[in-house]
Amino acid sequence: MEEISMVDLKGQYKKIRDEIEKAVQNVFHSTAFINGKEVKEFSGNLENYLNVKHVIPCGNGTDALQVALMALGLKPGDEVITADFTFIATVEAIALLGLKPRLVDVRPDDFNIDPDSIEKAINEKTKAIIPVHLYGQCAPMEDIIDLAQKYNLYVVEDAAQATGVDYLFEDGHKKKAGTIGDIGCTSFFPSKNLGAYGDGGAILTNNDELAEKLRYTVNHGMKVKYYHDYVGINSRLDSLQAAILNVKLKYLDKYNMARQDAARYYDQILKEHKNLVIPKKVTWSNHIFHQYTLKTKGISRDLLKERLAAREIPAMIYYPVPLHCQKAYQNPDYSDKDFIVTEELCKTVISLPIHTELSKEQLNYITHNLLEIADEL
Ligand SMILES: *Cc1c(COP(=O)(O)O)cnc(C)c1O
Repeated sequence: MEEISMVDLKGQYKKIRDEIEKAVQNVFHSTAFINGKEVKEFSGNLENYLNVKHVIPCGNGTDALQVALMALGLKPGDEVITADFTFIATVEAIALLGLKPRLVDVRPDDFNIDPDSIEKAINEKTKAIIPVHLYGQCAPMEDIIDLAQKYNLYVVEDAAQATGVDYLFEDGHKKKAGTIGDIGCTSFFPSKNLGAYGDGGAILTNNDELAEKLRYTVNHGMKVKYYHDYVGINSRLDSLQAAILNVKLKYLDKYNMARQDAARYYDQILKEHKNLVIPKKVTWSNHIFHQYTLKTKGISRDLLKERLAAREIPAMIYYPVPLHCQKAYQNPDYSDKDFIVTEELCKTVISLPIHTELSKEQLNYITHNLLEIADEL
């Protein structure tokens, strides 16, 4: 059996090597490393795939979030609500701009931001909400959009873990994650569902006016060369990454299905165990399993991880520390009772290997050993 890894980029690469190498050779021959034709091609392809009017490529997902908040014209001291249980980038972008992050708790079963907690945190300074579609499943967007309309707030989706997920509205129509709020942000970090071979990101919007501002903002605030109407940054997707993403986008649905197959296998085998809780699937979104994350119940999560490692089965904790406990983000306004769910999740979640190349043999080995260890604990 091949060694098990959390993510297997090499196995995936081997299957598309010829196409990738041809695509990057073309960039080498053109020497148009920045703003080559591949970048425009990729934004067009992603616009079609996501059915969104504007894709603005940028350097990474963290920049995408920062640029989104810059384009909204928020002012220092304005408050932005986001989840306590997410990757640090979400809250970092808020803080970097002098805006005030207002962290709120998440839902215990699907791990996404809780609309009731959002509503409690809204005050006259609140200007925006950043829901994160955590682990590859959408946050409850209809409730969040309703709140945004009621209180006149922007919605910026952090779809870094959710490229390709469908949101199913109550009336039956669908939209891709990242195309529902005012602006969506995504990441092409290599291990993301649509991963480049380096850094990359994109900003999504259906709003023409915002699209124009987003385009200036990633390009030094410049509309006409060397005339700077806004304060901007330099954040670009380079031509090599765009060429690679053009190849990989064609396989994204297939890749997401392979993750779903692996998740279904895990679910089947693990669902009956009294100490393990399989990931909940919500009705308003499919799940593309950026992570396959279990909750442990009545056993030590850390011991479980250690014993799995002893049998060469890697597992990861996404995320071990609630954001409100991170030194850089402490806030005296928070009370202990504000984050009961997140605090519990940080102690009990464990993510299993999930990627496009897991074999039946590996899945069998993982689940067989996991059940054995969980019984012993
Ligand atoms: C990966 C990730 C980001 C940041 O993306 P980078 O491209 O690494 O900057 C932001 N938010 C979430 C939820 C992520 O998982």
